[in-house]
Amino acid sequence: MDKKTSTQKDTTPSLTGRAGGGSSTRSLIVSALDHGTVIDHIPCDRLFEVINLLHLQDMTSKVTIGYNLKSGKMGTKSIIKIADRFFTDEELNQLSVVAPDVTLSIIRNYEVVEKRRVSMPSELKGIILCNNPKCITNNEPMRTLFHLVEENPTLVRCHYCNHEQDIRQVKLV
Ligand SMILES: [Zn+2]
Repeated sequence: MDKKTSTQKDTTPSLTGRAGGGSSTRSLIVSALDHGTVIDHIPCDRLFEVINLLHLQDMTSKVTIGYNLKSGKMGTKSIIKIADRFFTDEELNQLSVVAPDVTLSIIRNYEVVEKRRVSMPSELKGIILCNNPKCITNNEPMRTLFHLVEENPTLVRCHYCNHEQDIRQVKLV
């Protein structure tokens, strides 16, 4: 229930299914945020996984999504801005499972106070499924746990059955 300053906003909540614009659309979306978090350079086919990982669908904050925006580096990209919400490192770093190259901007009072990337956490709790069908986590109602074994390519090991799997071949919980 975070309603405190929302009357001061200069934007209306919107969910842009196909923004389709060029750089002018992109800068408008970024600059419209006075306080909160911007997640940029999301591959379009990973947008909904990013939304799910951060539980944006359960949030009362204003969330603006740009989809299929033009990007010099990526061709197309997606961007999410979340007003009045700052995430923990743990919440943000889990994005490295689906979108390791996203860029984060933390904005306070219209100023970008921090720009950063995400890094793979040493433990993944309740984020991905084990590829081993016999693993206890696939047969009991329990949270999965993986340990980081190696990066580039990223390899993780199931805490319960020791099965190792490539992060690019996992399913999200
Ligand atoms: Zn397992």
